[in-house]
Amino acid sequence: MQSELRVPPRILLGPGPTIANPRVLKAMTTPMLGYLDNDFVKVMDETVDMLRQVYGTNNTLTFPISGTGTAGMEAALTNIIEPDDAVIVGINGYFGGRIADIAERCGAVVTSVNAEWGQIIEPEQIANACKKVTPKLVAVVHGETSTGILQPLEDIIEIAHDNGALFLADCVTSLGGQPVELDKRGIDIAYSCTQKCLAGPPGLSPISFSDQAVEVIQNRKSKIQSFYLNATLLAEYWMGDTRKYHHTLSMTLVYALHEALRIVIEEGESARYQRHERNARALIAGAKAIGLQPAAAENYRAPMLTTLRIPEGIDDVTVRKRLIQDYNIEIGGGLGIFAGKAWRIGLMGDAANEQNVLLVLNAIEKLLIELGYNVDSGTAVSAAATVYQN
Ligand SMILES: *Cc1c(COP(=O)(O)O)cnc(C)c1O
Repeated sequence: MQSELRVPPRILLGPGPTIANPRVLKAMTTPMLGYLDNDFVKVMDETVDMLRQVYGTNNTLTFPISGTGTAGMEAALTNIIEPDDAVIVGINGYFGGRIADIAERCGAVVTSVNAEWGQIIEPEQIANACKKVTPKLVAVVHGETSTGILQPLEDIIEIAHDNGALFLADCVTSLGGQPVELDKRGIDIAYSCTQKCLAGPPGLSPISFSDQAVEVIQNRKSKIQSFYLNATLLAEYWMGDTRKYHHTLSMTLVYALHEALRIVIEEGESARYQRHERNARALIAGAKAIGLQPAAAENYRAPMLTTLRIPEGIDDVTVRKRLIQDYNIEIGGGLGIFAGKAWRIGLMGDAANEQNVLLVLNAIEKLLIELGYNVDSGTAVSAAATVYQN
């Protein structure tokens, strides 16, 4: 017989999953209810209400998709896109590439607008693409977790709307960590996930469609290919007076999201966003003091995910293995062209705190010194501490 499940209490400072808040884990031990039990429907309604608040939207069609962030991405695209639709996708990292891939699988004719990894997509690039095609949809990633860029959205949204297109933002990493403000900005379609800045377990992908996006879905000529991710059918389960079974939700994950959203609202959104910013500033100050340069362009860095260039002569995998073995800390390696070249340090949700920043800086510095890197011990922590003193 196997022994009872036991895993180390890892300090998760990678690109997600992050450390789940203990209150969220506790909520997950709540008993199951039937999927149409009135008491469960009440939990669903409260969850949707809180989701609208954190997303900054009055969109009726707001609810969590069953599945991780990628399921939300797939749901967004499969509901909106019909074969031969023109779609413009900004690609400046791994996840922009994934949007383009899924859009093509939905039959879209995709125009990619590329920027270097670590740079933003410039609004003019989108404007130029709109001169060549008439897009139904313009899509970009808000927080590009592969590069650490927080994409400015306002100008691109205006261009998309001026050209009659819907605008989609991947808010997987930004929701709960930085303002997304769907209605204020005019974002038509957004999706996120539970395991990043909402500090929950992986498994749900909160999504929201504007009324314009809903109209596009309603006026489709072709049937939505997916049953499981079909927003029209899901709306009949999530909204309205008469609820219809669609698929069995994970009550456990809905309880988790309910508690995670309560925590975000309790902390206060602006306090939460400032906490993420302050801790990222301290992390970067400490990293720079020992010569680790951020890989994302200054002024456009996502506070929840910092990419740091790995110094010449230092082996990526050795450092990350030792961080786990000696310090119980997980950080992320680079994806795509950043593989072996950059580390990704996530400070998401609960994990964005002073204790973790000082711990990870001290650990990385000690390992670098052991590996022959020339820096005075204590440099990183002392630089970071200055940020907290101000
Ligand atoms: C993590 C992430 C995804 C994918 O989410 P999964 O939960 O891994 O499916 C998509 N987009 C961005 C920006 C992400 O950071």
